[in-house]
Amino acid sequence: MALAKQVLDAINKQINLELASAYIYDAMGIHFAGEGLKGFAGWMAKQAAEEKKHAQKFISFLLDMNEQVRLEAVAAPKQSWESALAVFENALAHEKKVTASINGIMDAARKAGDYASINLLDWFIEEQVEEEAIAQGIVDALRFLADDKGGIYALSQELGKRE
Ligand code: MG
Repeated sequence: MALAKQVLDAINKQINLELASAYIYDAMGIHFAGEGLKGFAGWMAKQAAEEKKHAQKFISFLLDMNEQVRLEAVAAPKQSWESALAVFENALAHEKKVTASINGIMDAARKAGDYASINLLDWFIEEQVEEEAIAQGIVDALRFLADDKGGIYALSQELGKRE
């Protein structure tokens, strides 16, 4: 059941990236709470919790495969932005980085003929399509709203209803 070293190293790196993602979204949520946009803050808190689950999914996989999990230090995130649009543009750029990273692990898993990892990564590839589409949709809405504070507040309230 041993994983190819390249795949194992890449998954361990991905665990750190997912935890860093959680930290980034928590920072964004804290920023929004400070700005009085509680809906966006709540949305970000849920996003952070989802990223923790992504990390856990990779951790569980390595444990199931009897492989070593290596937890590294998580980098301090950026903590202030000049607008709601800037926050979500940052989130979108971050999700694109995560997608590229998942694709890189998939490349390594395919080269290694590692079907178990490929199966796990298929889930993440589908998830990233959704993550990017959601972030892009919010960026588009905020670009449309521009300086419309009432509209931005209403969008925040709407997103705060996220399950
Ligand atoms: Mg993720």
